[in-house]
Amino acid sequence: MSKLIFFALLGLAVVLWYKHQANKRVRDASKPADKPVENMVRCAQCGVNLPRSEAILSQGKFYCCEAHRQGAPDA
Ligand SMILES: [Zn+2]
Repeated sequence: MSKLIFFALLGLAVVLWYKHQANKRVRDASKPADKPVENMVRCAQCGVNLPRSEAILSQGKFYCCEAHRQGAPDA
């Protein structure tokens, strides 16, 4: 009976180790790709390009600042 527990634990350890290795590989592969190139978006008002993280999203459009978001021509 103790043998069964031993092999169950061994199997679990192998599965966890394998998952850990797979995760590490995915993270290593994706890291250099998304670091230098951040998604750029265009302001719907003035057309300037800016990083996605700095843009203001409103009704499916991106804006560079609050003033342009409020002064959108079709608003
Ligand atoms: Zn703008």
